[in-house]
Amino acid sequence: MSDGESSGVGSFSRYMEGIAAAFAVTRDAEHELVYANAAFRGLTGVTGELAIGSPITDAFTGPNTVELRALLDRAIRTGVVARDQRIDPGVDDAPAWSCTVWPNAGQNGEPGHLVIELREASFAENTLALQREVAERMLLSALREHDAAAGAEASSRRAVLLAEEGRRLADSLDEVATLKAMSGLSLPYLGSWCIVDVLERDSAMRRLAIIHPNPAKQSLARELEGSWQPEPGDPFGIPAALRSAEPTVIAADIGAALATAAHDPETLHALLEIGVGPLLTVPLVVGERRLGAITFVGSPRAAPYTPEDVELAKDLAIRSALALDRARMHGEAIELKTEADSANRAKSAFLGTMSHELRTPLNAIGGYVDLVDMGVHGPVTEAQHVAFARIRSNQQHLISLVSDILNFVSIGGGRVSYDIADVVASEILGEAVALVAPLIRQKELLFDGVSCDPTIVVSADVEKVKQIVLNLLSNAIKFTGPGGRLVIDCDAADGVVVARFADTGIGIPPEKLEVIFDPFIQVRAGLAGRDTGVGLGLSISRDLARGMGGDLTVESVLGSGSTFTLTLPRAN
Ligand code: ADP
Repeated sequence: MSDGESSGVGSFSRYMEGIAAAFAVTRDAEHELVYANAAFRGLTGVTGELAIGSPITDAFTGPNTVELRALLDRAIRTGVVARDQRIDPGVDDAPAWSCTVWPNAGQNGEPGHLVIELREASFAENTLALQREVAERMLLSALREHDAAAGAEASSRRAVLLAEEGRRLADSLDEVATLKAMSGLSLPYLGSWCIVDVLERDSAMRRLAIIHPNPAKQSLARELEGSWQPEPGDPFGIPAALRSAEPTVIAADIGAALATAAHDPETLHALLEIGVGPLLTVPLVVGERRLGAITFVGSPRAAPYTPEDVELAKDLAIRSALALDRARMHGEAIELKTEADSANRAKSAFLGTMSHELRTPLNAIGGYVDLVDMGVHGPVTEAQHVAFARIRSNQQHLISLVSDILNFVSIGGGRVSYDIADVVASEILGEAVALVAPLIRQKELLFDGVSCDPTIVVSADVEKVKQIVLNLLSNAIKFTGPGGRLVIDCDAADGVVVARFADTGIGIPPEKLEVIFDPFIQVRAGLAGRDTGVGLGLSISRDLARGMGGDLTVESVLGSGSTFTLTLPRAN
């Protein structure tokens, strides 16, 4: 026996070929012949390779094949060893056979094998006892090796499954789709169907899905989905996952577990119809947070879950818990954004109404101050004139702030209409400069006038362009100290007109270059004194420029100055 067990395939087959005992191996319920040694071939008349691959009972004829077939059928069905079963010859002069069959159940969906030994019933038992034992062991261990190889293949399939799983989950942001995809994918490996439960944010338990790959059973499963909810005492599902962070396996007393978890006779009936075998619940946990549970359900006659199955299920649970967490965060982000959007709309509506309401009394203040200042209500002293001038300048400042807000709200709400026409660029720039000329002088800024070819024509809304230019100029004046320089020029290129507004003022830090175009953003609020706006000018200007098919950008060096560039579509 020692040489047979310790050596390789060559000596194995040499041994099998040399012994007097007749052995064969068959596969599957059809008993396809996989192997027959010389003694078996001699005894049965099976002719070597010719018979390999076809049912063993086809390979040799004789009435006793019917009995043999029944014996093999029983062995593959029950998985029980049949020893020394007598098979009658059926013909007078032929010897009876004694047959022993060792079933070797297949794994991972592989078909099962039978090791068959045939003897003439009269054959002297003791001469062959040792040989038979060795042959039986060798054949069975060869089959087990085959299963081990199949096991390795199954492991690699699992690895592929996990990789595929990870990819799918990474892609998926929908909570339900995520869990369904994941659980469905693992079904062929971990059970015939599964139950997915989640713990809601308010800690309520919810049965999210019941997944059955078989379309006929899927409709039953879908019916249960709506009505069958988990309850605290359930032996499997989310209640089990809340009791223990470890997987829960139910292999015995499945009927009792089912009766407890079903909660009512109709559900129990439906569950039995779907078919329930061993149960494996794995909790979905991220950090300390329990998110849900997946329960894999084997078919009624399925083998119990192995430690490897439990490990695979745990692996899948980690992945799906992470994906579920991600999907939930994504959902929350969308909710928050929706809330923020509606808050923003409410804010705009409030600002619009408020600004509108403020403008009327502000204008009235201006009007009454003018009347009093003109002496309508009696003589006015010099000191009072000065005070009225201050009131008026503050009133105008307030009006311009309020107008900014109104402007911003209406542009944001898409309520601005543009009156586009062909306009000479140098004219608009000239007019805007004329309006701010007193301020330029007051601040003693160096300014050589606008440098712009008078033939350049833009296609734009004159009032809107003026509004932009005035805003850029007043900023340039505001943020440039006395003695600083302003340069305004414009030229045309590739269908666009480019106007630049450069100053040698305080400049803008690089990290603020984009945000200054956001509403209510000021680099250093209050620094430029009482005349500062509310941080809406640039936001409005860029929106207007873009609304006319152009743009507004900035380049700046902190401490040296800024250049704002306005582009607008060219008309000529
Ligand atoms: P406001 O002028 O009302 O504060 P703006 O939107 O017009 O609002 O400008 C936003 C901010 O951008 C200003 O508060 C200022 O910090 C910065 N800024 C704008 N123009 C200039 C400039 N020419 N030089 C330096 N900083 C500027």
